[in-house]
Amino acid sequence: MATTLEATFELYIGGKEQPGSKGEQRTLLDPATNQPLARVAVGSRDDARAAMEVADRAFRESNWAADDGARRAKALWKLAGLLEANADAFARLETLNQGKPLREARGDIGYVVRTFEYFAGLADKVEGETIAVPGPRFDYTVREPLGVTVHIAPWNYPLLLAMRSVAPALAAGNAVVLKPASLTPLTAVALARLAKEAGIPDGILNVVLGSGAEVGEALVQDARCRSVTFTGSGEVGSRLALLAAARLVPVTLELGGKGPVVVLADADVDRAAKAIGFGIFGNAGQMCWAASRLLVHESLRAPLVEKLRGIADRMKLGPGVQDGVEMGPLVSQEHAAHVLEYVEEARSGGGQVVAGGSRPTDEALRAGNFVRPTILADVPATSRAVREEIFGPVLCVSSFTDVDEAIRAANDTPYGLLAALWTRDLGSAHSLARRLDSGMVVVNEAPTSFPQTPFAGAKSSGLGFEQGARALEPFTRRKNVLVHLGGGKRVA
Ligand code: NAD
Repeated sequence: MATTLEATFELYIGGKEQPGSKGEQRTLLDPATNQPLARVAVGSRDDARAAMEVADRAFRESNWAADDGARRAKALWKLAGLLEANADAFARLETLNQGKPLREARGDIGYVVRTFEYFAGLADKVEGETIAVPGPRFDYTVREPLGVTVHIAPWNYPLLLAMRSVAPALAAGNAVVLKPASLTPLTAVALARLAKEAGIPDGILNVVLGSGAEVGEALVQDARCRSVTFTGSGEVGSRLALLAAARLVPVTLELGGKGPVVVLADADVDRAAKAIGFGIFGNAGQMCWAASRLLVHESLRAPLVEKLRGIADRMKLGPGVQDGVEMGPLVSQEHAAHVLEYVEEARSGGGQVVAGGSRPTDEALRAGNFVRPTILADVPATSRAVREEIFGPVLCVSSFTDVDEAIRAANDTPYGLLAALWTRDLGSAHSLARRLDSGMVVVNEAPTSFPQTPFAGAKSSGLGFEQGARALEPFTRRKNVLVHLGGGKRVA
């Protein structure tokens, strides 16, 4: 059963929806059925240029940047309220487009509401400083918005990851041009439609649809682009960093991961099993911070793997819009096939399939991009399934007897996004958290984040950070003003 959305989703530039300059459209498929879901306009290099021009003009001519931050705060609060009032419709749109269960999509939309509220609260707290200098002088700094900021988002949390950088950029007074992922652009367009009603001037929030190679690169290379925030694969992130470097434009990169979960011998196995299950099967494992490598103390291996097998085997798969579904389809047919290739390779390399490992046999799910929750054990450490980001519901399990060995294995990856630790011992928790080579560590917790906590990757997982009280800083520049006070003589 396909749910076709009647409307066509178009580019949103200068407060108006418009078709792409070439007049092209493409059909998006419902990942649960591969039946047509919606038509979307395809933007071009010319559309990217037009959006940058409109944004630049709005930045210079509207009062968005110059106004008291409290006015921007009001608009962002209003946008949060409008989104909250329409949360069900947004969650449904996200689910239909991306595939995740409605319960998860509702969580995502709630997170976006909270993100706007949080950054609204910071919009009037952009402060400079005064600096003591010799002689009759007065020195101070001001923090000013950059101008036009470019944001390129992935398909796994379409609205959430886009707004994680758009909200602080707007709060700081910038004009934004967003390119959502080609597969999942619907909620970004729907949100832009709310901007006018929220009181955000036309041209301050623009959404350009289209391919990364054409539209994304054109945005980054545009002379008006003052910063790039990219969330996606390392390959594209590095390329964009090079393009931006050529124009000395700062970049924030949020990239991939291969998250280790280290379970010590004194861990709470029940809680760990639930959290690990959520951390690898949530969003069908399509998470940069997925808990994809389990390193468990030998003494707990059998009970923990048994509990995880139970969780995997019992999970209800189905279209995300259906009641009681716990895991939806993967985003596309190609991606599901790609994930299963990793599983096949691990199996033929000697890995043991403890759960899943295939598409579901249920006839009702045949047409969709479903992959069963999968647990692989004893896959050789050199295998691609252990070393590369699979970005699907596949957990690789290995065990250890010595903690140092576990930490070495946890850090033995080019990635460094989020690592999880399970122990009841406070000393071990804090000392091992220091030794984990990653931008984030969770202790006795599933992968979890809040708008007020920094989100950052180490090593190949990223550059810079998002979220938290300092997240406006990369969207402002510091200007120093030095004033000579006239030799101390009073001017009449
Ligand atoms: P992707 O790199 O293929 O695409 C991400 C975005 O970049 C899309 O909007 C795409 O259209 C665009 N793009 C592609 N090629 C481009 C180019 N040459 N120039 C400009 N833009 C281009 O990634 P994806 O498949 O959408 O997302 C999955 C990846 O994202 C995974 O590696 C995942 O770990 C990562 N990710 C990281 C985080 C994080 O916060 N660290 C969060 C979510 C996803």
